[in-house]
Amino acid sequence: MKVAWLLGMVAAFCLLLLALGYHGKIKKRLALLGSCFGIILGSGLLLLAVLPGDSFYGPVLAAGHTNQKVVALTFDDGPYSPYTEKILAILKKKNVHATFFVVGENALAHPELVRQIKADGHLIGTHTQHHKDLLRLDKQEVRDEMVMGVESIREITGEKPRFIRPPHGFKDYEVIEQAESLGLTVVNWDIIPRDWTNPGTETIVSRVIENVKPGSVILLHDGDSPVNKGSREQTVQALPEIIDRLRVEGYSFVTVEELQTK
Ligand SMILES: [Zn+2]
Repeated sequence: MKVAWLLGMVAAFCLLLLALGYHGKIKKRLALLGSCFGIILGSGLLLLAVLPGDSFYGPVLAAGHTNQKVVALTFDDGPYSPYTEKILAILKKKNVHATFFVVGENALAHPELVRQIKADGHLIGTHTQHHKDLLRLDKQEVRDEMVMGVESIREITGEKPRFIRPPHGFKDYEVIEQAESLGLTVVNWDIIPRDWTNPGTETIVSRVIENVKPGSVILLHDGDSPVNKGSREQTVQALPEIIDRLRVEGYSFVTVEELQTK
């Protein structure tokens, strides 16, 4: 079931109570209290859909359950030249394996970069075909976005991805149910340095280092939406320092698939 339907039912319940109260069928105070409860319930349901680490609607891997000092670096929204190439070069130099959640249409536009990601030993997950907000789509559209995203990767690499990051990390019953039916594990994050806002290289580094813990999934971006086409140079600049400082603190790097088994 979609969170939008749940919100619609809650709104209808509130309106019904208010109408009954207005016409004197129930006490006005009861109608107002019930409506307030409905508003709180609706806000809570929406919050649970957009909070990346919450598993209310179904299983979401937002961090590994481990005491081992391992972290998963994840890169979203690519492939996106020249930043994907620059990030791959850094990861190769530092001997780090990461996870790339690629957007299907970007993958089809740059299949050579997807092949390079795979050849370098990184894990590839889908970030859907067009990076649409899945909470706003109907059941068939959600499935189409996922199936197309999976098929775009399979066409290029010969392998179907087993992990999905929904755009913006938004998920509800419908999203998780569809993902599971396609054999996809939903992966979000627990560390979000907001690199896409270009807050400065040092800020990106410190937001990671100050919040990291064993099993963390770190969200970074090698790509951007085709509309914004922002620079990812700050992410490129921050990455070597993030890797070096995490290593100094005793962390090693795994893909989300490896993290799942820790
Ligand atoms: Zn994204």
